[in-house]
Amino acid sequence: MTRVGEIVLAMVYIGLGSNLGSRRSHIHSALLLLEEMGAGRVERVSMLVDTEPVGGPPGQPMYANGVALLETDLQPEALLAVLKEIEARVGRIEREHWGPREIDLDILLYGPSIIKSDVLEVPHPRMWKREFVLGPLAEIAPDVVNPATGRTIARHLADLKAEKTGK
Ligand code: ADP
Ligand code: MG
Repeated sequence: MTRVGEIVLAMVYIGLGSNLGSRRSHIHSALLLLEEMGAGRVERVSMLVDTEPVGGPPGQPMYANGVALLETDLQPEALLAVLKEIEARVGRIEREHWGPREIDLDILLYGPSIIKSDVLEVPHPRMWKREFVLGPLAEIAPDVVNPATGRTIARHLADLKAEKTGK
């Protein structure tokens, strides 16, 4: 018997967003494509929330945002390449930075990994200030820990809400 290697699975949380066209069906298509393209298995999907656009040009339509848990054997950069391919297939075209888009797929957390490269930063640097990310993430992964702070998602969400209400 010869060893041919091992399969290492990572639990990855993916941020889902869409603010153009049929937002729910764009997100649904992206989730189907993750499995079809062999990126792994979609284990959980949060509720989608309606969100005012943050940053970017004025007058953008509302977003639908959610989070999915993907169990993957792809390395982070390979997964990012698949996410970009899916964004292209679902119909996203290059527009101005932070402008409206049919689909946005972000790697929020890749297991307990901390990654900083030219193309990828994980945990996603802006997620901790975004209720539309932390809310859906807290629904499916309240006890998962931010590897950079040791704090849970539920705690980050509570802190963010407290910050916003000035308490
Ligand atoms: P944003 O998601 O910030 O609105 P884009 O979707 O246009 O913007 O992504 C811009 C670039 O961000 C991607 O090409 C990718 O290389 C980079 N990037 C850095 N970190 C991440 C991450 N954690 N998940 C997804 N993309 C990332
Ligand atoms: Mg993105």
